[in-house]
Amino acid sequence: MRFNPEKLSIPDQRMQPFIDPEEIWNLINTTKPDKLRVRDVIAKSLDKQRLTMEETAVLVNAVGTGLADEIKQGARELKQRVYGNRIVLFAPLYVGNRCINNCKYCGFRTSNEKAIRKTLTDNELIEEVVALEENGQKRLILVYGEHPDYSPEFIAHSVKLVYGVKKGNGEIRRVNINAAPLDIEGFRTVKESGIGTYQVFQETYHPEAYKWYHLGGKKKDYDWRLTSLDRAQEAGIDDVGIGALFGLYDWRFEVMGLVRHTNHLEACYNVGPHTISFPRIKDAVDLNPDKKYETADDDFKKLVAILRLAVPYTGLILTAREAPEIRKEVLQYGVSQIDGGTKLEIGSYADSKSEEQNLNREQFRISDARTLAEVIDELLSDDYLPSFCTSCYRMGRTGEHFMEFSVPGFIKRFCTPNAILTLAEYICDYGQGVTVEKGWLAIEKNLASMEPDIAAVTREKIGRIKTGERDLYF
Ligand code: SAM
Ligand code: SF4
Repeated sequence: MRFNPEKLSIPDQRMQPFIDPEEIWNLINTTKPDKLRVRDVIAKSLDKQRLTMEETAVLVNAVGTGLADEIKQGARELKQRVYGNRIVLFAPLYVGNRCINNCKYCGFRTSNEKAIRKTLTDNELIEEVVALEENGQKRLILVYGEHPDYSPEFIAHSVKLVYGVKKGNGEIRRVNINAAPLDIEGFRTVKESGIGTYQVFQETYHPEAYKWYHLGGKKKDYDWRLTSLDRAQEAGIDDVGIGALFGLYDWRFEVMGLVRHTNHLEACYNVGPHTISFPRIKDAVDLNPDKKYETADDDFKKLVAILRLAVPYTGLILTAREAPEIRKEVLQYGVSQIDGGTKLEIGSYADSKSEEQNLNREQFRISDARTLAEVIDELLSDDYLPSFCTSCYRMGRTGEHFMEFSVPGFIKRFCTPNAILTLAEYICDYGQGVTVEKGWLAIEKNLASMEPDIAAVTREKIGRIKTGERDLYF
């Protein structure tokens, strides 16, 4: 159901800027959290109600290890209660790094003369996808700089090309996009190619800070970027991903900005963002970030837990920008998707000569260079259920995280069985060494805790996977 301002007799906020820095700072500066209030807010979230801006400010302001631990414990509990132990896996695929913008923090910025510019040809793109499929990937996010070469038609073309690459049992079943904001027509063109989520990160929600970091090109227009996902919604893309680049400005402001953005999309389109990303700045060529806003590990861990509690039904994405130890800890606080086997250098999935990371070819340096197999192995050891599920999007169940959260039994009926089926496929086609045994044990353990009738149907499908059938889902 679309927003209808006349029916509700409230002003139409669609495609209107919605961030009021003064309002956000007032909330941060005036909300004084005491222990009881923090506990009330956590309890509200555990009761599956999403938090207001003011309640989010209570958590943001809760200082001292005791309170931070309670917030993290709350997030851990909410994750278990609502989502269980599934972790969805994906890989980023950089298609081209040409860029007209001059974002101070990014290796692809136009003023970086050291950057080796490259756009994958169709054949190179196909080779990359084959290499990713051979590792067992099923979900990709295609990443592009902002450049006239990367028109909506070009993006749509690359999406279709990716879907068409099938090697053995390998195929990509969901292609998400991280690219520049488009106009409504442009978003429509990209939607028609069959994308999953369209991500645009605001980088910083603070308009002055935004101006300071974005020196040239179209990206310097804060409002154009802020309203980009409204235009995506208008074009019919109801799976959108928001994000902030932590380290550009005060992390507390960015958390409030992300929650405000969520409110805005919910109020206008009846569906919040599908995912929230919270990258921290990593080293890039000639990067001299202002250390003033560097987000310390402890603040980072706390902010992930706060986001989990504030928007309980939105997917949280944690990338290989973070080191394995941080990933391992933060996963507990409600992250639902991670990348595995990530390589950022353009063309490097197929061309493994370039094992050495070369900053001149990369947007930034990652901190988790483990293979997908290694990431899966650790997830299994830590009692998670790795998932490559793409079912909801292909069944037209978009806004899936809302459903997971609000439809009773949804996770039991759909998500867990689908995670099991995609893990079974992974083990059969790509599993190696001890991971195979660990994988089947994890499947058995999860089947044992399912309702018998659902477990029986899932077992029957696993049997079919073992005899060669693929892509079975609920
Ligand atoms: N060019 C498009 C844009 O700017 O939206 C999309 C792709 S950009 C390559 C993807 C994201 O990478 C950016 O939105 C930004 O948040 C992040 N990023 C840029 N520089 C980074 C750095 N040095 N460390 C970590 N993340 C960075
Ligand atoms: Fe270009 Fe995006 Fe990098 Fe900015 S963040 S320089 S827009 S690739």
